[in-house]
Amino acid sequence: MRNLFDLTKEELETYFLNIGEKKFKATQVYEWLYQKREYDISKFSNLKKEIRDKLTMDFNTNLITIEKKETDNLTHKYLFRLFDNNFIEAVVMHHDYGSSICVSSEVGCNMACKFCESGRQKKIRNLEAYEIVEQILVIEQDLNMHLSSVVIMGIGEPLDNFANIIRFIKIINDPKGLQIGARHITLSTCGLVPKMYELSKLPLQINLAISLHAPNDQLRNALMPVNKVYNLSTLMQGIKDYLSVTGRRITIEYVMLNNVNDKLEYAQELASLFKGMNIYINLIPYNETNHLEFKRSSKKNIMAFYDCLKKNGLNVTIRKEFGRNINAACGQLRGSMKQV
Ligand code: SF4
Repeated sequence: MRNLFDLTKEELETYFLNIGEKKFKATQVYEWLYQKREYDISKFSNLKKEIRDKLTMDFNTNLITIEKKETDNLTHKYLFRLFDNNFIEAVVMHHDYGSSICVSSEVGCNMACKFCESGRQKKIRNLEAYEIVEQILVIEQDLNMHLSSVVIMGIGEPLDNFANIIRFIKIINDPKGLQIGARHITLSTCGLVPKMYELSKLPLQINLAISLHAPNDQLRNALMPVNKVYNLSTLMQGIKDYLSVTGRRITIEYVMLNNVNDKLEYAQELASLFKGMNIYINLIPYNETNHLEFKRSSKKNIMAFYDCLKKNGLNVTIRKEFGRNINAACGQLRGSMKQV
């Protein structure tokens, strides 16, 4: 039986047409689910009983469950149990301008980035769209608040789960769905270039972030195995093409690893790569984990790196720190769960 949160509004319209009903019923169902937050189909009172019974026969509205939650003042980290007893994580961060959620897209991840806790845990399966939608629904219910932006940057490589991620984006972006504006949705990829081309052709105004983390092939090969498949020049061409097709700025993510990728010569190389392009660079202080040897760059090194990029005329920010006290590195909570 399919989960009702897995359907885009268009898919639900097709369902209603197929059972001989008017397609506007899909809008009514969406309003119950996403605006009134009523998940008991028998209570969808503006639908006649036969339709409610049919829906109940064809769909469930089961929610994933919170297994564990850790909180500090600006951050809430959730571990969810899925229906097959796998675990995933999501993190909520409160900013001056609203609250954002970072969702997972897969159980584990095959990209095996060397500095990433999630990359230590091989992919078990893709998440279905409803399992990503429900990370938002369950957390909004738990915190009794509206989350204004969504970042697809948790466990998993979203472009390696392309169809489900696109369905998820359509559901949360729908004006009758969760109403999260495309400009408040960011998808982060480690650089699956063919999928970036596919994404650029879809009529979605979402933001794209590239996890770069190294400005040359030698260093990137050592940190991110994906670079051996799509090397830096392939990725740079993909970035240029994406910019020219969409006209939208790309974010370049660069995690600051002590004595690994934080030397000034790398800042210079990064500046030469991106000079004059419509991008901005986000420097991310690394969240250390017990299992990996990488350390966070010193504040002094991060500032020097930042200054070098600035002097070269690049747009650059340093990500505010969140949740250092609560296993904030993606995959840490799930990792601890697996050892229990
Ligand atoms: S950084 Fe992202 S793509 Fe790389 S291993 Fe971790 S979850 Fe996967």
